[in-house]
Amino acid sequence: MEDSIRLNAAEILCIGTELLLGQTLNTNARWISQELAILGIPHYKQVVVGDNTSRLKEAILEASKRCNYLITTGGLGPTNDDLTTETIARTFNTDLEENLIAIKDIRGKFTSQGIENMPASNQKQALFPKGAEIIPNPKGTAPGFIWSPIKNFTILSFPGVPSELKDMWAKTAKEWFQKNSFNENIFESRVIKFAGISESSLAADLEDLLEKENPTIAPYADIGEVKLRITAKAKNKKKADEMLNPLEEELIMRGKDHFYGKGDDNLASIVIELLRERGEKLVVAESCTGGAIGAALSNIPGASDVFIGGIIAYNNSIKKDILGVSQKSLEAYGAVSNEVVKEMARGAINLFNADWSIAVSGIAGPGGGSPSKPVGLVHFGIAGPKGCETMQANFGMHRGRLNIQKLCIVGGLNQLRLIMLTRS
Ligand code: AMP
Ligand code: MG
Repeated sequence: MEDSIRLNAAEILCIGTELLLGQTLNTNARWISQELAILGIPHYKQVVVGDNTSRLKEAILEASKRCNYLITTGGLGPTNDDLTTETIARTFNTDLEENLIAIKDIRGKFTSQGIENMPASNQKQALFPKGAEIIPNPKGTAPGFIWSPIKNFTILSFPGVPSELKDMWAKTAKEWFQKNSFNENIFESRVIKFAGISESSLAADLEDLLEKENPTIAPYADIGEVKLRITAKAKNKKKADEMLNPLEEELIMRGKDHFYGKGDDNLASIVIELLRERGEKLVVAESCTGGAIGAALSNIPGASDVFIGGIIAYNNSIKKDILGVSQKSLEAYGAVSNEVVKEMARGAINLFNADWSIAVSGIAGPGGGSPSKPVGLVHFGIAGPKGCETMQANFGMHRGRLNIQKLCIVGGLNQLRLIMLTRS
């Protein structure tokens, strides 16, 4: 108890049987965690319980012995399975009291929708533990509340609906924490992104740095990419930036060509940015990805000035009739070959009068593999102002069709990025 009070720590308790059944992803816990990190409030534990009074009571009591702030979400609705407020009050032997402003507000929300008789069940949403401060809910009917039932322990309760929680947090709780918590440090995180390297190879290159305690470096493997999250704990943002800047530079230098971006960057946004800087246009010719590279590029707002279009050449007839791939190459080398992707890439450039093209042809599986061309084998062709380069990758048949396709998106975009940066 003594230690946790000194730590000024928060815990998150999410309430709802749907979370335990795996029907609803617990995005609230993730979002609140990020907010706590921004505020610099230590946070070491999260709990999920179903809509069950005794287990909820047990979770609240346990948290009251460990932390200073318990943030709950869910169970503030009008129905019988919404037990949060009542259980919190009962856990600390306190009565519920109707809040007049809250009942007026809830009634008003019904009349504004033309409903004169508010359902009796909604009356329950205006009941709060005696002494609680209400958190208004502009987007819904369930207000939240802030209540300190015992010394050094405050409960902040929010509804489960994510949009309501976020709105209420921003308008009330954020300020409450800034005023009431005595945190000495803030946490600042950045994300640095790499492609074309495995998590273990990158980690090996950074071995000496990974031991650092402040700032910390945490690698995360994604499909075809590795992200490094660097986090500094410092008195303020300026101090955190002073710690993170040199580390970020060092990591980017060690990552060499594999480093491609930071924060919200992705490979498609970086490729679009490169094309804009040069005033050049890109097209795609996709077989095994069925347009997924084009989709990734068109996810970037305003991409159409540099990504102008492409061909889904899934069947060989389209490779031949539209892109001009020769029957001879298809017969001699097969559709998944350097020769064919080269002809696809050139064909696309000619067809659309573009500067660059990405062509891809591969065996995404689960069928269609052979000993010489196994599932997971992919050929890329990148055509540009200085000619056409091809490369092949074997992503492995164990990956599964969707992941092989995702690896093709990352692989194709990353190859184009590298060629644009290093060879033109
Ligand atoms: P409740 O406030 O318990 O009535 O929850 C209302 C709705 O919010 C639920 O039906 C879920 O869709 C959603 N919800 C509840 N808890 C969470 C959570 N932890 N993360 C994301 N959504 C949630
Ligand atoms: Mg619920």
